[in-house]
Amino acid sequence: MAKLQAKYGQEKEYLQAVQEVLESIEDVYNQHPEFEKAKIVERLVEPDRIFTFRVTWIDDKGEVQTNLGYRVQFNSAIGPYKGGLRFHKAVTPSMLKFLGFEQTFKNALTTLPMGGAKGGSDFDPVGKSDAEIMRFCQAFMLELWKCIGPDQDIPAGDVGVGGREIGFLYGMYKKLAREYNTGVLTGKGATWGGSILRPEATGFGALYFTQHLLHKAGKNIEGKRVALSGFGNVAWGAATKAKQLGAKVIAISGPDGVCEIPDGITDEMIDYMLVMRASNRNKVEDMAVKFPALAKFTPGKKSWSVKCDIALPCAFQNELNGDDAKELIANGTWCCCEVSNMGCTPEAIHTFQSNGILFAPGKAVNAGGVATSGLEMTQNASHISWSAQEVDDKLHFIMQSIHEACVKYGTQPDGHIDYVKGANIAGFMKVATAMLEQGII
Ligand code: GLU
Repeated sequence: MAKLQAKYGQEKEYLQAVQEVLESIEDVYNQHPEFEKAKIVERLVEPDRIFTFRVTWIDDKGEVQTNLGYRVQFNSAIGPYKGGLRFHKAVTPSMLKFLGFEQTFKNALTTLPMGGAKGGSDFDPVGKSDAEIMRFCQAFMLELWKCIGPDQDIPAGDVGVGGREIGFLYGMYKKLAREYNTGVLTGKGATWGGSILRPEATGFGALYFTQHLLHKAGKNIEGKRVALSGFGNVAWGAATKAKQLGAKVIAISGPDGVCEIPDGITDEMIDYMLVMRASNRNKVEDMAVKFPALAKFTPGKKSWSVKCDIALPCAFQNELNGDDAKELIANGTWCCCEVSNMGCTPEAIHTFQSNGILFAPGKAVNAGGVATSGLEMTQNASHISWSAQEVDDKLHFIMQSIHEACVKYGTQPDGHIDYVKGANIAGFMKVATAMLEQGII
């Protein structure tokens, strides 16, 4: 860590993600001198390569705009590079390095053969028209297509990139490659190679994981109050499944504030989350404007100020800090499953764990999204398409396996389960063993 700190002192998110993993694996690493001899950690913390490119496009006023595009190919020990694209004004190499690093372990946990990657741009979709989003995606793909391929690197969505963007990206890829390689991107439309349930998968998988965690602790989700953050694709899937399982979703949020829904979210409100996402406005207040009798908007507040049993961060890294964790605990929260990548700060995780709150990290909880991307790749490679039931069964099985891996590697001498350690050690052992077996490269 000291060496990385000296080299990458400015890259806060990246250093935070690496620190968490290294702390978790310290003991097992020291039990395996062969890892140390092959300098596995020194190799694992550096991405294999990073592509940086200029993306120039024309906005609706006819003005020329320039953004930066990136693809971080982090690790390919267990499969081709795989991970989403993030379009957000705050995107930096540090953010994408942390996400690519996390993705490497998450993908290892899925049981499927996928390496880790992440990419994106500092393009801000907020307030853009559909035509501007299309032109940006096309310009982005003009560069990205040279770095990707169905057996090489397979991007997908992340914050700011959903089905609409994947469609525009694929359209341009197809034109450039002159091949109908559906396997080059995942999260595609259902009529042209996309997997059924991929849009829902991150949220559904997160709730399946939460169910296993609660069951192991002798609890269940029925009737429990769930506070979510965000209102995008991940929060939408999580709200849908939480409601189906009998929980009451009492808060969603956005960068503008929180919407409290005291009687629980309705199906109409869940559908409206999709409309809000497609509007590019990025305002959760729109929910309270549409459903004034059911939802109350408070500007500047987070979901963590709402009394709940279970907190599910579904938006952005570090969205739940130490003070938020204390407020949740004071209000009676007893479980937090991180659905966003690194949604909790180290202080928040420490506060949860030292107060006996059930806590599980994003790389285990949200792995159902990329796992279903893996299932989409399998369907594409064999030119078939599975039914919703088949995909859901496989997703269930994968989330159960991830939970079991966390229990196997995370059970402490006193019997309690440290899900952070469990997820990090399970992911690390798989990647490290593959790296060792493939020699010094
Ligand atoms: N962006 C998602 C994640 O963080 C999904 C990536 C994918 O499907 O490749 O895991």
